[in-house]
Order: sequence, then structure tokens, then C-alpha cells
Amino acid sequence: MLNNENHYQLFRMILNKESDGPYDGVMGMAFIEIKQLTKHFRDALKPAVDRFDLETEQGEIITLLGPSGCGKTTTLRMIAGFEQPSSGRIAIGGQVVHDDHFSLPPEKRGIGMVFQDYALFPHLTIEKNVMFGLGKWKTKEKKERTKEVLELVGLSQFADRYPHQLSGGQQQRVALARALAPRPNVILMDEPFSNLDAGLREKMRYEVTNILRKTNTTAIIVTHDQKDAFAVSDRVVVMNEGVVQQVAAPREMYRCPKNCFVAQFLGKTNIITGTLADDLKHVYTHIGRVCLPEKTKALLDQVILSIRPEGCRLVDEGRYCGEVENVIYSGEYQELQVKVRTGEGGYESMILYAPIEQEIESGQMVSFDIAPELVALVEQ
Ligand code: ADP
Ligand code: MG
Repeated sequence: MLNNENHYQLFRMILNKESDGPYDGVMGMAFIEIKQLTKHFRDALKPAVDRFDLETEQGEIITLLGPSGCGKTTTLRMIAGFEQPSSGRIAIGGQVVHDDHFSLPPEKRGIGMVFQDYALFPHLTIEKNVMFGLGKWKTKEKKERTKEVLELVGLSQFADRYPHQLSGGQQQRVALARALAPRPNVILMDEPFSNLDAGLREKMRYEVTNILRKTNTTAIIVTHDQKDAFAVSDRVVVMNEGVVQQVAAPREMYRCPKNCFVAQFLGKTNIITGTLADDLKHVYTHIGRVCLPEKTKALLDQVILSIRPEGCRLVDEGRYCGEVENVIYSGEYQELQVKVRTGEGGYESMILYAPIEQEIESGQMVSFDIAPELVALVEQ
């Protein structure tokens, strides 16, 4: 529904026209502090964003990850000042930019924005596009800074071209250069990779993070793609239905997802229920006893496990066995759907990944072990 919105208009909104130098924020200590940020659209049954909390360090790259409609864009727009929160507080670089009594306009927040469609001005050269972002800087300083950021994103030789003469990846780098030019406290990017095809997408993930790191820029990036999120961020915020589910570094989040939603959103997994053993290190399930990576502090007997497919390793005489129902070949590995035998004579359907060099066919019996490091106790 926001697709038709004019991003040029929004871009103009964040230009600080009075400023004749970098933004006035407290340089050197830029960080973001968001407390209980909530947006309840009129007539909506539930808030689009519900008591969102986040604190970032300077230079940290954060992604907001979640399915379509979970409130990512609304959160980003409230941080930028394009959307008025229903309640909550936002501080950037030690300065409150929004609370119940006060709201700083977008252009005073020291924010750089990169839109999904880049919103480059088609009638301006690359150089002019970037200079435009510098408002009323002195002409000489504008030129110098533009040269500097174009060098930073590796596009110096394209300064005189027009946006339509550049590839998608190059246009994105121009948009990033334009956003970085005024030395903002924070860069906000909404789905920056979604317009790029697979190969370029991977390259841009790498390039964008490199540029943000080089300039020690704090960034909040919105994406619905788990691979984008893991590849670019220090920490990931997983959201669902307006509510933050978990905030963690990619590795930690993958290994220790907090609940079933996070576990399933971050890739395929097997959700299996069971009873915790007295040693607090094993769980009795339908498919047999499953070992945990370490003793749990869980208080309940009845628990839920997330077992990653790549943690199930085919071996000759494994603890678990079952019949292969289906083999899906992906090139990098093969995904097996296996009917795993249960103690009660039934079966539980599980997903396993097997190396591609192994010849496996439907109907075949396989046996496997489960690596404890890829087992996690999760909440409902
Ligand atoms: P995401 O970016 O995660 O896909 P959005 O933040 O765009 O999600 O939307 C979150 C929820 O808020 C959705 O249910 C959407 O329909 C609703 N929403 C977004 N913008 C508006 C608006 N301007 N008016 C009413 N509802 C909106
Ligand atoms: Mg969105």
C-alpha cells in the first residue's frame, strides 16, 4: 500500500535545508534508543507496531526481519519521522527526537534514507544527485564531499552519467552515497536488496556492509529475507505481527531461537515435542531420546525442540531410522523427507539434509544421528 508513495517527496523531507554543514547531532556518540514504540493505525484491530524496544551502539548494523505486514516499514518510518507514533520514545545520538511531548521533524534527525526504488532524480547526473543531498553546504565543500562519497562507493568515473545509464547495483550505490554524503547519524534502508537479482544481491550485501563499516555508520535495514539479514547485520530483530520476537546476533539466533516462530522463520526446522529427562540434558520424544547441547534451565517437563535438518547426519548405524519419502535436489545439498519410526510403531515426518554425493532414493531406509549443537529448546 506504500508502493505508490512518492519517495522523492520523502527524500526531500529529510534534507536539512538550513544546515550549512553536517547534521547537528552529537557526533561521535551516535546511537539509537527506542522505547515502547507503538503505532496503532486508526480502525486497525491491533497495533502495527507494539511496544518496540531497541538499543544500538554506534556503527552497529541492525536488520528488522519478519514476514510481510509485520510492521518493519512502519517502525523505520517512525524512526525517520515520516510516521507519527501513537506512543513511545526515540533518541538518536543522545538526543530525543520523539516522545509524548515532542517530535523533531525528519530533516532535523540526522537521518540518511535509502529507498527500495532508490528514488534517484532521473534528470540529474550522479554527481548532482549526490550534491542535492547536501542542501546548503558551500559549493566547494559540496563538490569535495561528493567526490569523496562517490570514491567511497567506487563510482567516481560515473559522476557525469544519468541514473538510467547505470545498472541496478550501481544505482543503489549512488542512493547510498547520496544518503551518506551529509554524514548522517543513522542510515535507514527499506528492503534495499529486493529489486536486485540473485547474483547481484549477494554482491551488494557485501558492498553495502563494507561501505557502512568503513564509515562506521549506524544502520537499520529492513528485510523479509533471512539470508540478507544474516549476511549484513551485527544483530537481527525478528518481528511478527508488530511484536519483537527476539533480538540477537545471527549465529546466536540460528542456534538458539527463542520460539517456534523464530526457529521456523530462520530456515527449515523440525519441531518436535517431548519430556525433559531428569538429567536436564536429554529429551524423550516420539523418535527417541534427543540430546541437548547443554543442561537446560527449563522449568517445565513438557518441552518443544527445534532440530535443524543439517544437524541430522546420515550414518550407518545411527540412533534414529526411517524411510525416505521424498528427495528434493537443490544443487548444494539434498533435502530428504523421512518417515522416522517412533517407539509406538507410528512415524514422525522429518526433514534432513544430505550431502549431494550420496545416492539416495525414495523408499530407501536411512539411519541418522542428531548433532546436539543444532538442537534447541524453544517456546511455543
Ligand atoms: P512490513 O513493512 O513489515 O511489510 P508494514 O509496516 O508496511 O509492514 O505494515 C504493518 C501493518 O500496518 C500492516 O498490517 C499494514 O496493513 C498496516 N499499515 C501500514 N501502513 C498503514 C497505513 N498508512 N494505514 C493503515 N494501516 C497501515
Ligand atoms: Mg515493508
